[in-house]
Amino acid sequence: MKYCRKCLVPDTKPYVEFDEKGVCSACRAHEKKNAALHGIDWKAREEEFKSVVKEARAVKAPYYDVAVPVSGGKDSISQVHRLLGYDLRILAVNVDYGIKTEIGWHNLMLIPEMGANLTIYRPDRKLQRKLIRLGLEEYGDPDLMSHTLLHAYPLHVALKFHIPLVLLGENSAFEYGGSSSLAQQNTISREWFERYAANAGRTAKWVSETHGIPYEQLVPYEYPEEMDKQQSTKAVFTSYYFHWDSERHLEIAKRYGFRELQSPREGTYRTYVGIDEKINRLHQYLKVLKFGYGRATDHACEDIRNGRLTREEGARLVKQYDLEDISDDYIQSYLEFLGYTREEFFAILERMRNREIWKQDKEGKWFIPGHLNGILPQEKE
Ligand SMILES: [Zn+2]
Repeated sequence: MKYCRKCLVPDTKPYVEFDEKGVCSACRAHEKKNAALHGIDWKAREEEFKSVVKEARAVKAPYYDVAVPVSGGKDSISQVHRLLGYDLRILAVNVDYGIKTEIGWHNLMLIPEMGANLTIYRPDRKLQRKLIRLGLEEYGDPDLMSHTLLHAYPLHVALKFHIPLVLLGENSAFEYGGSSSLAQQNTISREWFERYAANAGRTAKWVSETHGIPYEQLVPYEYPEEMDKQQSTKAVFTSYYFHWDSERHLEIAKRYGFRELQSPREGTYRTYVGIDEKINRLHQYLKVLKFGYGRATDHACEDIRNGRLTREEGARLVKQYDLEDISDDYIQSYLEFLGYTREEFFAILERMRNREIWKQDKEGKWFIPGHLNGILPQEKE
């Protein structure tokens, strides 16, 4: 594996490109983003946001003025926080698609305490289980359809309740580097949804056609057709109006009683991300099997780009956390939730292991030859 000269992104990461200086496209996008951020007049954007809110309130909608998709994470709590003080009737929409943790429930329940209404949608477990299994077995991604659902369902709710405004989170095209026309957008579009919510265009329609699941059952997983046509519900990205900053979001969320882990759990060193739901850990672990890097790499790269870690400090954290096995507590939950035997489950994981990246030693233990090679000093010799 080769690594970016500035961060720790490996060349096995899908869609990543390296320039002639050996720097990855994510680092280059970050430089562009930083330059763009300095060019943005955030005060003016906040004024724009105020007029968006004013328009929504003027509609005099029957039930709620604004809908916010929420996971109960620090970002969604910050989004609700942004709306307080505008005298709005807020409907927070949570999609409970997987296995919520205790800390996840605690954090989600802060939202009604903040002064918003909260609705929790729990999709048909039989269908949801089938979709998670399909994503896992066919594509090595258990969150394949959950991800489209949690983007699409709040839009369906907003349309049905005639809610004029939906406050989405970040525009990934801008935050993580993507098509420049999509990056400039302040509202969601079908094109954005198909690229960033549905993994590689794998929409509900596509799953229905390729896997024979009746489309009628999958409508909540699909970008609503009414969003293309009508203008009465506007869905905007928070990150267009406010500087999207995870650390700042954590500070805000803590003021409302947001809990994080006491110490890093597994797969990464951060204690406040991916803590509300368990299947995400499997999604992250599959990246390790398929591409040889995991969640700690993602987090370290972000911290390196933002100047919070040196590349070497980042590499040490990656070495410590990235390739950790999934603990038994998680596995037990997956077996119960998805209905696999232990043997079936591990057979699927092994099928996903990329043997170009992973090799077995004499004892049969898997390892990645050249992991972080040339980055940590002791490996330079
Ligand atoms: Zn990089």
